[in-house]
Amino acid sequence: MKLFNTYGRRKEKFAPSGKNIGFYTCGPTVYAPPHIGNYRTYVWEDVIRRYLECSGYRVKHIMNITDLDDIVLKEAKKKKTSWKALSQKYGKIFLKEKRMLGCLEAYKYPRASAHIGEMVKVAQKLLRKGYAYEDEKGDIYFDISKFSEYGRLSNFKPSKKAKKVSKQDYWQYDAGDFLLWRGCNNKYAEACWNTAIGVGTPAWNLECPAMSMKYLGEEFEIHMGGTDNVFSHHENEIAVAKCASGKKFVRYWMHVKHLLLNGKKMSKSKGNVIVLEDLLRKGYSAREVRAALLSVHYRRRMNFTFARMERIAKYVRSVESAIKIVKKAAQSSKYAESDAQIIGAIKMGKHALECFKYNMDNDFNAPHILHHCCNLICWAQERAKRKRLGKKSAQIVLRSVREINSVLNVLEI
Ligand SMILES: [Zn+2]
Ligand SMILES: [Zn+2]
Repeated sequence: MKLFNTYGRRKEKFAPSGKNIGFYTCGPTVYAPPHIGNYRTYVWEDVIRRYLECSGYRVKHIMNITDLDDIVLKEAKKKKTSWKALSQKYGKIFLKEKRMLGCLEAYKYPRASAHIGEMVKVAQKLLRKGYAYEDEKGDIYFDISKFSEYGRLSNFKPSKKAKKVSKQDYWQYDAGDFLLWRGCNNKYAEACWNTAIGVGTPAWNLECPAMSMKYLGEEFEIHMGGTDNVFSHHENEIAVAKCASGKKFVRYWMHVKHLLLNGKKMSKSKGNVIVLEDLLRKGYSAREVRAALLSVHYRRRMNFTFARMERIAKYVRSVESAIKIVKKAAQSSKYAESDAQIIGAIKMGKHALECFKYNMDNDFNAPHILHHCCNLICWAQERAKRKRLGKKSAQIVLRSVREINSVLNVLEI
C-alpha cells in the first residue's frame, strides 16, 4: 500500500510497525454546523480508515472535538449563550450528520475542555525544557527558534526574528512564536481554569497534541486533517509533541484538499456555504452526498456544483435500481446457467476486486472504483433483464460489489 505523506511530500510505502494503527483526525470546532467542505475531509478519512481495516489492520481512531477555542467563545457571546451549551449543541449535530454520511464511529471523541490536565502537563514539559516561555500577561508561547525542524511539514523557513502570534490559526507570513496558553482575561473569564501553570485557557495548538498522545501514545501512525491544517495547526502540533516527548510523534501525515463551492472558497461571512441540511432539503440522500464528496480524489481540489451533485445522485440511483434487479435474480432466478457462465461471473467479480485493491493501494484512488461496481452490476442487470442471469452468477456479482461497498459505503445493497 502506498500513500502520500505530506511530511516529505512524496508517495511512500505504508510500512507501519505492526497491525495496530493509531489514527488521529482533527475534528470540528463546534460553533456552527460543519459545512460540506468539512465533511469532505471526514468522509475521506472514513474511507481510508475502512480500507486499512479491510486490509487487515486494527485501527484505533481518535477524533477530537474542539469545544474550546476563540471562535466558540466569540460565537457564544454573540448568541448570548455559554460556550458549553453552544459547543454541546453543535457537537451533537456533527455526530448525527457524520453518522448519516455513513462514517464509522471513532473509538473516542475527546473534548478539549475535558483534557485540561493533560494539556497543562505538556505545557509544563515545554517550559521545563526551555521550548516555551511565559510573558508578562501570563500567556505562554512556544519559541520556534528552539526547534530546528520547525517548518518541515509545510516546507517553509520562518524568518530569524520571529514575533509572537496570539491568533490560534494563521498563515505562514504571520509565523512566529505561537500561543500555547492564554492567561485569564476579563473577556473570556467563563473559560478559565486554575492550574499549575496559572489561571487561563489552553490554545488549539496545545489541545490536539495533548489528546492524541494521551490516547495513541507519543508515537503513532497516521494523522489526518484538511489541507488548511498543514500550516499553522499541524506544523505547531509537531513542534509541541516532539519537543515535549522527544519522540517521533506521527509517521504519516495526510491531508484532504479544499472543497470549493461554485469555484469559490466556502466562507460563512460571504454566505458562500452549503451545509448537509441544505442538500437533504433538496431531496438528495446523505449517501448520495457521500458519493459526491468521494467523486474527486482527496488530494485534488474539488469544485462542488449542483450539476455535479445531480449527476452523481442520478448515477447512484441507477446503480441501486440495477442492484435491486440483480438481488431478485440472486433469490429467484430460474435460469439454468452453465458452468462456463458461472466461471465467467467469477472472473468478472475477481477482476473488479483486483482493480479495487490495486487502486486503493495506490494512495486510495476511490473515485475510479465506483465505475467498476457500476460496470459489474450493469452487466448483471442486462443479463437479468433478458432472463439470462442465474442465481449463482447474481450472487457472485453481489458479493464483489458488497465487498467494495464496505469501503466506499455509497450504495444501498
Ligand atoms: Zn487538531
Ligand atoms: Zn479499473
